[in-house]
Amino acid sequence: MAGKNEGPAIGIDLGTTYSCVAVWQRDRVEIIPNDQGNRITPSYVAFNETECLIGDAAKNVVARNPTNTVFDAKRLIGRRFSDSVVRNDALLWPFKVTCGANDKPMILVTYKGAEKQFTAEEISSMILTKMKEIAEAFLGCGVKNAVITVPAYFNDSQRRVTKDAGIISGLNVLHILVEPTAAAIAYGLNKKSSSSMVKNVLIFDLGGGTLDVSVLTMGKSTFEVKSTAGDTHLGGEDFDNRMVNYFVQDFNRRHKKDIRDNPRALRRLRTACERAKRNLSFMAHTTIGVECLYGGIDFESTITRAKFEELNMDLFDECIGHVEKCLKDAKMGKKSIHDVVLVGGSTRIPKVQQLLQDFFNGKVLCKSIHPDEAVAYGAAVQAAILTGQGNHEIQDLVLCNVTPLSLGVCVGEDEMFVIIPRNTTIPTKKIEWFTTSHDDLTRETVKVYEGERSRASDNILLGAFVLSGFPPAPRGVVQIKVCFDIDTDGILTVSAKEKTTGVTNNITISNVKDITSKDEIERMLKEAARLKLEDEEQKKKFEAMKSLKNYVYDTRATFWNSTLPVADAKKIERELKSAIKWLDEHEFAEAYVLEKKRKELESIWDTFFKKV
Ligand code: AMP
Repeated sequence: MAGKNEGPAIGIDLGTTYSCVAVWQRDRVEIIPNDQGNRITPSYVAFNETECLIGDAAKNVVARNPTNTVFDAKRLIGRRFSDSVVRNDALLWPFKVTCGANDKPMILVTYKGAEKQFTAEEISSMILTKMKEIAEAFLGCGVKNAVITVPAYFNDSQRRVTKDAGIISGLNVLHILVEPTAAAIAYGLNKKSSSSMVKNVLIFDLGGGTLDVSVLTMGKSTFEVKSTAGDTHLGGEDFDNRMVNYFVQDFNRRHKKDIRDNPRALRRLRTACERAKRNLSFMAHTTIGVECLYGGIDFESTITRAKFEELNMDLFDECIGHVEKCLKDAKMGKKSIHDVVLVGGSTRIPKVQQLLQDFFNGKVLCKSIHPDEAVAYGAAVQAAILTGQGNHEIQDLVLCNVTPLSLGVCVGEDEMFVIIPRNTTIPTKKIEWFTTSHDDLTRETVKVYEGERSRASDNILLGAFVLSGFPPAPRGVVQIKVCFDIDTDGILTVSAKEKTTGVTNNITISNVKDITSKDEIERMLKEAARLKLEDEEQKKKFEAMKSLKNYVYDTRATFWNSTLPVADAKKIERELKSAIKWLDEHEFAEAYVLEKKRKELESIWDTFFKKV
């Protein structure tokens, strides 16, 4: 936490296409205009012979310098080069992306005459530096403290990378806040005076690059994210792409020329398409014109709103599908939603609004907060809270988020033991007790997984560590306390402690395998649903194995505590040994085999112990 005397604290919405910075001043939020007077700044960085341009200056030269003007860096944050999404994106970008160490995507540009490589976080840090400078010019003093926003589905690693970008830019990152929660803060403040009842709100955030849908429950001064859904790859740029493709074909048809081999022409066409798309939010048709687009040919054409809608209808339908899913995850019906809030520039598209309104049976959508500024607004409020600079109205706000996937450890024969279920509100801390899996072990490996499948190895291994140094003991005697702790930034620390010796070890999941992107989460959830039956079978096997093991080891404990005649004791000991051997040899046995074995052992041992 930072204190009041550490100067102003800003909120930064680090967007895929645009970024926005705001500050809490004189009991209200100010959205800070940049040096061009614009309240949002393009998330663009351009490199040339002499300098590096950021924001409007970079976007203005994109047509002249397409291969060295970088945008969409947020799409690369925390991703691998081999990720198919990265490869597909790279096909559309005029700048080059190559594979760096550890499969990290590297952005390749020519800067001051030399070839240079940058990571996505380095580009993001340049944009953050620009936002910091915009705030400093406006406030007339240095700014250190900031709250930065990320999409709700950014995993631990992506949040960390964003935090690192903030640190590289010289900021003290007070908190990484998820975008829909930030929007909800903005919305909550607007609405607070009018009502004090608990409300369910659906935040529909459709920006340039991503769709984030969240269901939140808002109390008098609390915001709890109940569920999140969406797509990291669905937004305004995808709608632009559809129009670009349409006009590329149009040009080809008319002039028998394919402009796709010319990045500059493509870029100029894209800029014109984006402008046309914006116009179509207010007009029924618009003209698009680009002088000397390709081969000296001027291009001019018209497009109607109806055509634009037709080109994108499947994408718009997908957006509504994510709304449905989010409600399902929150276990709420459409009628439970009191308000539907629009955030993100692409929610200005009339068809999107209409589909959403139809889905909610004609409910009037909330447009009271500025779609481009709500996230930075909320981040500024959060920054003020964290530095104690806000007034009493905002100081009581409590913010909660949720875990996108279940988190747990591997126990027994590859069983996923869930410690923090999916959609648990964070920050959270959960403790579970475990024992050693076999006799006489002096070390146990704690493997941390994320996912919904019942077999641990079908989920994502986030990390592992060894707890060692405790004395050997029979299975069931050693007690190991495992604690899962997720902080407000969504960063997970797992610790394990053996009870008698107090030996301990822990891991902070900072280097998540960089694959639990939103797409990956979507894929995993779909797969878990598809393989539900198989998983249930697997669960049965785990249960049967657990029950049989417990029975065998409990019987052994009873045997050790009993005083049997030597002959009987020898016989039982032999049988126990053979049962334990059988267990080791039948790790993957079917549930019915395990149940049969248990019945067989019960019939011998239960009658025997009863008899003695
Ligand atoms: P954001 O990421 O929230 O800043 O949203 C940026 C996206 O919103 C870009 O793809 C813009 O093209 C899009 N956008 C902004 N204004 C409009 C508009 N009037 N109609 C359609 N899309 C818009």
